[in-house]
Amino acid sequence: MDMEHCPQCGTEIFIQDEDSGEIVCSNCGFVISYRVLDASGRMV
Ligand SMILES: [Zn+2]
Repeated sequence: MDMEHCPQCGTEIFIQDEDSGEIVCSNCGFVISYRVLDASGRMV
């Protein structure tokens, strides 16, 4: 899945939450993608 810019604020800078694996906007905190680590079958 390609990264797009944030639908809320338009920034292209994202960060990945180490605990949840979520990709969130570094500017406004909008969640872009959920559970990107799910493919590895790893859940905390
Ligand atoms: Zn944003």
